[in-house]
Amino acid sequence: MTIDMLTTAAYIVAALMFILSLAGLSKHETSRSGLTFGIAGMALALGATIASLVINTSGTAESTLGLTLLVVVILVGAGIGLWRARVVAMTGMPELIALLHSFVGLAAVLVGWNGALDSHHVPADFIAIHHGEVFIGVFIGAVTFTGSIVAFLKLSARIPSSPLMLPGKNFLNVGALAGFVALTVWYIITPDIGLLIAVTVLALLLGWHLVASIGGGDMPVVVSMLNSYSGWAAAAAGFLLSNDLLIVTGALVGSSGAYLSYIMCRAMNRSFISVIAGGFGIEKPAASGEEETGEFQEIDAASVAEMLSAADTVIITPGYGMAVAQAQYPVAELTQQLIAKGVTVRFGIHPVAGRLPGHMNVLLAEAKVPYDIVLEMDEVNDDFASTSVVLVIGANDTVNPAAAEDPGSPIAGMPVLHVWEASKVIVFKRSMSSGYAGVQNPLFFRENAFMLFGDAKERVEDIIKSL
Ligand code: NDP
Repeated sequence: MTIDMLTTAAYIVAALMFILSLAGLSKHETSRSGLTFGIAGMALALGATIASLVINTSGTAESTLGLTLLVVVILVGAGIGLWRARVVAMTGMPELIALLHSFVGLAAVLVGWNGALDSHHVPADFIAIHHGEVFIGVFIGAVTFTGSIVAFLKLSARIPSSPLMLPGKNFLNVGALAGFVALTVWYIITPDIGLLIAVTVLALLLGWHLVASIGGGDMPVVVSMLNSYSGWAAAAAGFLLSNDLLIVTGALVGSSGAYLSYIMCRAMNRSFISVIAGGFGIEKPAASGEEETGEFQEIDAASVAEMLSAADTVIITPGYGMAVAQAQYPVAELTQQLIAKGVTVRFGIHPVAGRLPGHMNVLLAEAKVPYDIVLEMDEVNDDFASTSVVLVIGANDTVNPAAAEDPGSPIAGMPVLHVWEASKVIVFKRSMSSGYAGVQNPLFFRENAFMLFGDAKERVEDIIKSL
């Protein structure tokens, strides 16, 4: 058996492990084994690639230099990756993921450029296909690169999250796509480096514009859409490098990211096409949603403890503020104490609560909240009307009745948790400020709603003390 055959066999096993990893990551219970499969698959893929490189180049002049460079970049990359992953807070994950996607995009651009500058070995029969691959790789890579950088800047609040509304923005996007097709055909006929520079600049601008045009409320979809783009960029690089594993892995990331974006769009009542096309067809909302909507009632922790002791059923709806406050541990303890008192306690999780898909589920799992009481929005939404008390812990947009009731609201149509239907709603937050989408929440001014101000962790601990 030759080294190439062994490498191919290792690549097939690694690809199967990636598929098992994706399957595992789709459920709480199997997510740990999913991660293990992913790590094992990546270790096998890297090992096989390095081994085949070592054996195929041994004895040549390039081998020592190539291997030294490879070891250095792996050590530097792994070192930075380990350090960032260890220090990043859970709340900073989406922006870190966006930044990592930008590296995949940049890598695809560099591989494309390398393929264009080093095309003399490509047989004449394949040169047109090669030129097409170069352009597709550079285009997807450059769109992913700047798009991810803008997503990183928006998610880390370095630039405003409101959508950029350039006049005729849809024409700009469609024009850029048409320009890409025309430049590709031109390059295939006359491969000129000027055309490659033009398509790179065009794609960099398009990526920036596509994501800049998307508002804060749609950011979760953008992160998963960029994940998908980065997968397709990797697949395009795989074609240029004739690396089957990169093609398969890129396609897996590309298609799973696209499917996740589609599921999220359905959950937020957004048009998938409009989001991936940079807010195509999304008009400026009629109302800013910033206006005050009346008087609100304040409550203290001791009164909430009394209310909870007298309750039959409690639903907890956590949001981004629970992550900021790191309140999941006292929330888990409060849950245990209420269950011990005979209260039925469940969690209602909105698909985009927090700042990344599954954010709340990860936090609750970390605090050892049993999986069977953590329910999806659709599983719990009909039960609010028969619930004694709802604890809204650091959630805002995901429990905003304006989304369901006010067609002029900027988040109109986004499915939300119907917490206001419960007998009593306690809202944990530090001030009357709006949530991520910048929209005022009329829930705070309802007759059955009570504001418990302060850091969510401290307030939950106060309730536990008073119980
Ligand atoms: P929001 O971001 O709408 O609101 C969070 C609330 O938490 C704020 O009102 C804030 O109010 C409060 N808060 C912050 N810190 C604390 C604290 N220490 N203690 C108590 N309260 C605190 O949260 P949701 O989870 O409801 O909504 C998520 C939003 O993020 C949606 O708009 C979603 O589209 C978007 N998004 C989601 C992503 C995802 O994939 N899940 C990714 C990117 C964006 P105050 O400052 O007054 O305390």
